[in-house]
Amino acid sequence: MKKKIALITGVSGQDGAYLANFLLKKKYKVIGTDRRNSRDNGWRLKFLNIEDKIIQEDLDICEITHILRIFEKYNIDEVYNLAAQSFVQSSFFHPITTAQVTALGALNILEVIRNKKKKIKFYQASSSEMFGNSVTKNANFLDEKSIFNPQSPYAISKVFAHQITKNYRNAYGMFATNGILFNHESPLRGEEFITRKITKGFSRIMNGHNKPISIGNIYAKRDWGFAGDYVEAMWKMMQQKKPDDYVIATGKSYSIKQFINFCVEILNIKAYWTGKGLNEKLVDYKSKKCLIRIDKKFFRPSEVNYLKGNFNKARKLLKWKPKTNLKELVRIMIKEDMKSNNAG
Ligand code: NDP
Ligand code: GDP
Repeated sequence: MKKKIALITGVSGQDGAYLANFLLKKKYKVIGTDRRNSRDNGWRLKFLNIEDKIIQEDLDICEITHILRIFEKYNIDEVYNLAAQSFVQSSFFHPITTAQVTALGALNILEVIRNKKKKIKFYQASSSEMFGNSVTKNANFLDEKSIFNPQSPYAISKVFAHQITKNYRNAYGMFATNGILFNHESPLRGEEFITRKITKGFSRIMNGHNKPISIGNIYAKRDWGFAGDYVEAMWKMMQQKKPDDYVIATGKSYSIKQFINFCVEILNIKAYWTGKGLNEKLVDYKSKKCLIRIDKKFFRPSEVNYLKGNFNKARKLLKWKPKTNLKELVRIMIKEDMKSNNAG
């Protein structure tokens, strides 16, 4: 049987690498794109030992001619649009670039697909950040029907990409699906994101590093899952008869402080929290060394305080559920960070 061909934009990112690995196991021919000037990002593909198993192409999703060229070259069946400026904090400093990549980039791909004769399936990486602060007292979880109240240029760009995907589905009958994924992490997560910043930071401290980890708001809550579990949901969405929108989450929400406490427990560090506000810190019992400190430069101009997803629709229609709980996830991340630290 002919192999299905999948195009993954942003293959050098966390999800791109896991998804490529997953699709290879499903016997797909995988075309993965990144931008040539960021080839050093190949470390994730190397980590999964798949850098030679996929075809890599240079693609900036802001350049429609790049997209056209790829579609001319390969007879693509499924497109997974994972490319984005994906860091919320950066989006406040680079709002225009964020909109160009994260919002208009998706539209560029949709336009190219619309002009193709063949029916090509499209997956858009939507985000729980689109909900922003829309949780109410009556419904403290978020699902496909919850309203969007985005709090950053990133989230607003994702709302555009989400809505345009829906619009192309309705207006042109395209197979265009949105996966609204809540935060998902792994040893391949970028170090600028809070979970990896903390696990990496602790592994450095365990290796004798003296500086505390400086972070911002420790009271924000997130619904964190494992990226390896979530890419399976992306694929399942693309195997449905009809395109739709699906929330992918764990249904549990924890604060950054709770995440830190899990790390401390797993690493068997004896430490205590002291102080309030910007003076709050985590201190090692014995040495009195400060392990975590608060720095206002890591606070955001506008914050998303609480995210908790309801993945009932995915459970029912996709037969999907998360396999990894937060404590297991923290364990996996710490183990890998300790390993790479020991290896220098
Ligand atoms: P990453 O930041 O790890 O990966 C994003 C990828 O996009 C990188 O490979 C990056 O490559 C690429 N990229 C950035 N700009 C462009 C561009 N102009 N043209 C082509 N490629 C570009 O993100 P994740 O893997 O974590 O996430 C994947 C997708 O899912 C993203 O769209 C993200 O916004 C979304 N998402 C992620 C969630 C999460 O918790 N991880 C939650 C919900 C949604 P380069 O190195 O060249 O910059
Ligand atoms: P996001 O949910 O996509 O913004 O993922 P992040 O991992 O970047 O941030 C999750 C939460 O952690 C947000 O509420 C941030 O405000 C909070 N946070 C607190 N300190 C930091 C920090 O030092 N870095 C990052 N990235 N986030 C932090």
